[in-house]
Amino acid sequence: MSTRKYLIAGNWKMNKTAAEGAELAKAIVAAVGKETSVNVVVCPTFTSLDAVSKVLEGSNVVLGAQNMHPKASGAYTGEIAANMLRQFFVGYVILGHSERRQYFAETDAFVNEKVLATLANNMRPILCVGETLEEREAGKTIELITAQVREGLKGVKPEQSDAVVVAYEPIWAIGTGKTATPAMAQEVHAAIRVELKKVLGAAQAEKVRILYGGSMKPSNAVELLAEPDIDGGLIGGAALEAASFVALVEAAKQ
Ligand code: PEP
Repeated sequence: MSTRKYLIAGNWKMNKTAAEGAELAKAIVAAVGKETSVNVVVCPTFTSLDAVSKVLEGSNVVLGAQNMHPKASGAYTGEIAANMLRQFFVGYVILGHSERRQYFAETDAFVNEKVLATLANNMRPILCVGETLEEREAGKTIELITAQVREGLKGVKPEQSDAVVVAYEPIWAIGTGKTATPAMAQEVHAAIRVELKKVLGAAQAEKVRILYGGSMKPSNAVELLAEPDIDGGLIGGAALEAASFVALVEAAKQ
């Protein structure tokens, strides 16, 4: 029996103004703000961090960010540094999301720098990995995903394992309504766990939460979360409405 606590994280992507974000956060706090059996995280845009942070104050819902630059400061127009996130009490940072890899050419090496910087600043990285449909059909899924995990976590110390979160997000399932079956997801999650054992050690690998992401919604969450290596969800579309996001938290409680 795993001792890992389920984690449900909402990735709001490029949606919601600060006022809209605060409104959504208020509804989430009202419903699950006292939750202790599941870790609940919301990741708004940078411009909503301040407003959402104020709403979350005193609740158990934790603030997350969608990206971060690895350098502490400097000439990186449009970027954001760790201490700028920390001032709003950001606890988690989504890194290497497939949209950032695809549209902003982020490489495993760059994502790895971000992972190390996030940990060095006492925040928890949510390292996203995933394969395209072509890669899956070519039988390359496991090889590709384990390489993304290995490269993304290079240099992470075993004692930092508790803070590490990995999110398996098959690219063909993101925002498409197509979900990996529980068995398909579990196969990849188990392979990620084996890779984590090589990178961090057997005992430490057991502590790492591996989230599933890709059209997860209240109707499919319970069966996905029942798999032994699925420790929660990274939620896109269904995180934009309080009712569906809260229903996912409730599913994780079952
Ligand atoms: C995501 O992009 O992290 C995601 C899982 O999106 P969706 O839930 O909309 O597929």
